[in-house]
Amino acid sequence: MPIDLIIFDCDGVLVDSEVISCRAHADMLTRHGYPITSAQVSERFLGRSTRQANLEIETELGRKLPEAYHGDLQDELFRAFEADLEAIRGIHDVLDVVTQRVCVASSGSHQRMQVSLGSTGLYARFAPNIFSSSQVKNGKPAPDLFLFAAGEMGVPPECCVVIEDSLAGIAGARAAGMIVFGFYGGSHCGDGHAEALRQAGADLTFSDMHQLPELVRRVAADALTG
Ligand SMILES: [Mg+2]
Repeated sequence: MPIDLIIFDCDGVLVDSEVISCRAHADMLTRHGYPITSAQVSERFLGRSTRQANLEIETELGRKLPEAYHGDLQDELFRAFEADLEAIRGIHDVLDVVTQRVCVASSGSHQRMQVSLGSTGLYARFAPNIFSSSQVKNGKPAPDLFLFAAGEMGVPPECCVVIEDSLAGIAGARAAGMIVFGFYGGSHCGDGHAEALRQAGADLTFSDMHQLPELVRRVAADALTG
């Protein structure tokens, strides 16, 4: 089977957002009665949908998060994205040269991607092929979002390569029957991240986005001969 579609996760793969996002979540959760550090947010919730994270927190708290939390978080997150967010190094160059079609599959909301991809010049390069877990029943690590994205693009799962930086995302892509590359070039990725991605089932891992076209070529050649 040829590789016809590259499905990019957004946070930590297209934009270097995870450090900014974890800090904003930790600040706002702490302010609204759930003390947590940025590192703990990263460890527990990275790559998962906000909906599922909030449910878990509310179960622990034994009450709903206050209404103001959601608005305050969004304001702080979008402010920080506009001020500090950068595209992952090399991604614009890669999008100039890859021959496969591309799309985005993110646990984040469409509104969040409009801000994060928009402020880094990436939105127009993918629109309208930008898909959110809000469009499916179960977020990552379920396969739903990847299967939905491939279906919308009209490409069978076995002809897709997924690029993911989170364990939940790797698990979701595997469950969808897709080839998955673990990316650990985001500034939130510490020692051991590549190994964790491999253990979660990544077919290979890489940290320099410039390598992507060659890695896809190699996998496509293997698929043809193997
Ligand atoms: Mg991610």
